[in-house]
Amino acid sequence: MTINTTIAITADRALTGDGAHGPTRVVAEDGLIVAVGDPAAVAIPSGATHLDWSHRAMVPGTVNTHNHSFQSLLRGIGDDLPFLAWRDRALYRYSPKLTAHDMATAALFAFGEMLLHGVTTVCDFYYVNAQGNDHASATIEAARRLGIRIVLARCFYDWDGAPAAYRETIPQAVAHFEELHKRYRDPERHLVTIQPAPHSQHGATPAMIEAGAGCAADAGEPWHIHLAEEKYQVDQSLERFNARPIHAVASLQVDLASMIAVHGCWFDASERQVLAERGGSLAYCPGSNMFLGDGVTDLVDLVARGVRVGLGTDGGCSNNRVSVFDEMRTAALLQKVHRTDGQAIDAETCFALGTRTAGEVLRLPIGRIAPGYRCDVVALDLRDPSLWPAQALEKNVVYALSSRAITDVVVDGQEVVSSRRLCNVHLDEVQARVAELTRGWTRD
Ligand SMILES: [Zn+2]
Repeated sequence: MTINTTIAITADRALTGDGAHGPTRVVAEDGLIVAVGDPAAVAIPSGATHLDWSHRAMVPGTVNTHNHSFQSLLRGIGDDLPFLAWRDRALYRYSPKLTAHDMATAALFAFGEMLLHGVTTVCDFYYVNAQGNDHASATIEAARRLGIRIVLARCFYDWDGAPAAYRETIPQAVAHFEELHKRYRDPERHLVTIQPAPHSQHGATPAMIEAGAGCAADAGEPWHIHLAEEKYQVDQSLERFNARPIHAVASLQVDLASMIAVHGCWFDASERQVLAERGGSLAYCPGSNMFLGDGVTDLVDLVARGVRVGLGTDGGCSNNRVSVFDEMRTAALLQKVHRTDGQAIDAETCFALGTRTAGEVLRLPIGRIAPGYRCDVVALDLRDPSLWPAQALEKNVVYALSSRAITDVVVDGQEVVSSRRLCNVHLDEVQARVAELTRGWTRD
């Protein structure tokens, strides 16, 4: 069903993706932005729905380039453990038991909380597929119910050390990806996008990685892969392939220009150079990297080399927040302390990493308030003290913003959060489902 609507939104101030502005009106038709400018110059079309965002600033909806929605269910269960103990005692213990209905519960929880934090697009890197598409579909339908834009990065996984629910053969993974991609094709509104995601060097054999990248080429989509998150993964790559992660992957039959590497904490200068030269992108998750003690990606160097980078929260049990605004702040602070240089990176760059360039990483027309982009916007309450003094809006959004100030969220021209409440799903329902599902889950 397509809803044909015209919406106009008028706010006191705006960050559009090309700087800070005073009073601003945006007009969108069928979810597509057709006009942006001073309310004196941009009229409200007759018949349009008008949202009056007085005392509020309008900013682009944030784009979460990396998440695992089911992991929100495990929040608090595996905290403060080393990476492999966290994986075995939280992830591998509970995730294989989840049904499609449980996945929908997890997605309503994770994506509902994200919307309240101003995330309008989430990329869910989805690897608990149980040899089918029922789990992925339940996750997508939950996103549709809430009204959030979703990229389902469907995993290609064949490492037999992982639970059986993660694993498929190459023909299974290819067939399931192609079926899902065909079923949800939405080239106009892009509310659902399916992209392939060979899990990692340890989760997918070289042939599986090539199969995933091949599906990406056939579908005209980018592909995602976890690389060099933990130091031991570099050692394993050297041991198995006699090459560091990027070099090992670059030697396969894959297109690095359409690769979205996830994490990259341990990329050395030669790998960062290859990523830049070959046009690859990075999904950067500083909060998760800090939480798990992974290491520090050299973001400053990657950005300087021209690599496209988008921020991600990663899963709700490895951060444990699901806010891209929070990742903007975290990215800046981590890079500054790592380089012991307060000028290592600035707020404007980090704001772009969570909006405009994150949209470019996912190859979607999102992350800016400009004609030709989808109308995904967030209202911030200028009466909230976390945004004072008001003249430094962009700095304050990155460094000082409280989530309390996020009042309204629009995705594809539709209101999905109004006055700090989800419009389409009652949080009470989500809370009851999460409590029921996780009853009895413990750390020990
Ligand atoms: Zn991940």
